[in-house]
Amino acid sequence: MNNDLLARYEAIVGPDVIDQLKQMAHHLKKARVLHVNSTRYGGGVAEILRSMVPLMEALGLCVRWEVISGPEEFFKVTKSMHNALQGFPIEFTDEDIRLYEDNNRREFEKLKKVLSEADFVFIHDPQPAFLIKFMPERKNHWIWRCHIDLSRPYRPVWRYLRNIVSDYDASIFSMPDFTQPLPHPQYIIPPSIDPLTEKNIELPEEEVRAVYDRFGLDPKKPLVLQVSRFDRFKDPIGVVRAALMAMKFMPLQLVYAGGGAADDPEGEVIYREVLAAAKGHPDIHILYLPPEAHRTVNALQRAADVVLQKSTREGFGLTVTEAMWKKKPVIGGDTGGIRIQVVNHHTGFLVHTPEGAALRIRYLLFYHDKRLEMGLKAHRFVKENFLITRHLRDYLSLMLAFISGNGERIEVEATG
Ligand code: UDP
Repeated sequence: MNNDLLARYEAIVGPDVIDQLKQMAHHLKKARVLHVNSTRYGGGVAEILRSMVPLMEALGLCVRWEVISGPEEFFKVTKSMHNALQGFPIEFTDEDIRLYEDNNRREFEKLKKVLSEADFVFIHDPQPAFLIKFMPERKNHWIWRCHIDLSRPYRPVWRYLRNIVSDYDASIFSMPDFTQPLPHPQYIIPPSIDPLTEKNIELPEEEVRAVYDRFGLDPKKPLVLQVSRFDRFKDPIGVVRAALMAMKFMPLQLVYAGGGAADDPEGEVIYREVLAAAKGHPDIHILYLPPEAHRTVNALQRAADVVLQKSTREGFGLTVTEAMWKKKPVIGGDTGGIRIQVVNHHTGFLVHTPEGAALRIRYLLFYHDKRLEMGLKAHRFVKENFLITRHLRDYLSLMLAFISGNGERIEVEATG
């Protein structure tokens, strides 16, 4: 058990939370856990795994994280599957299916040994989901962890994927709206952020202020920020429009800080579209950041007066929790996981249109006290609900449910 790491979390969440984790993990000592996803950098899944894996290890579990690879065409197919699962009609051809399945077969050959040795296999999202089809005789527990908004999937693609994920022993969704009829238990586990990472730790004031110089921002103008990949569902054009509308009434500047993810080939195209929408406006700053720019994102989030996440579909939206942790109210699209983070009028505002976002930007920039009050509420809300320690507790509960079945009860003593 790595008590040093646990002590660092304890300083933030308190001793009872850590004590409970230790007691739960005690029943899972030496359990072999394998996580498989499709990118080590960029995007929310990688972000979570980077913290979850060492924390599970610190509690005494034996954890591995494997990443499947593939040619560009594979990721094009999985990206369009992803879009379809979030509701976009796409053409999904036999050739696409062949590419998807063949790549999973090749990856299975590489991972065969670790996949069979693990007690618990967590497969994240659709990209590696097909691996299960190559292990019909498996003895271990396979769990499909879906991070995307599956509430209104494009049916032909979901029918195909449902046939695959039905083979799993359980699935996990980020919120109840995303569940689908499946022949196994479904768990609701919202994602989380890690308060100890470069992305979220407290920063010295100078480092926060330095972003103004670095990106040519005006320290006298309020800063409105959205951090997101260049992805249609993040509505980057809507963000630019909202800022332009609000600017007609008050001075402000917008930073849209984005980047790509290794498993997302669409980024470049959208980036160019956003640049075109900004029309070179001096108060609109479109930043293309490298995937490891965690401290920069942290500093921007801390420097911001108001944070937007104007997505039109969103699995969860880690960026929302990240901003709320930094005491910023968030103006978020009324969709998916944003709804469980932004409590309308309390931790931020839910909006449907660029016009709505513009109105809320003006409100929050005008009412300084209200902004601070909502920011504090947002921080408390994250502390109670969306830190990695809560997330880990949910994973441990799920694994305990598997090993105890309907029989033995797992007793976790009350502390204090
Ligand atoms: N992110 C980043 N740089 C960028 C864009 C995003 O570091 O240019 C991070 C962001 O801070 C968050 C994650 O990537 O931690 C994105 O997760 P989210 O759930 O918001 O969206 P996803 O990209 O998974 O759809």
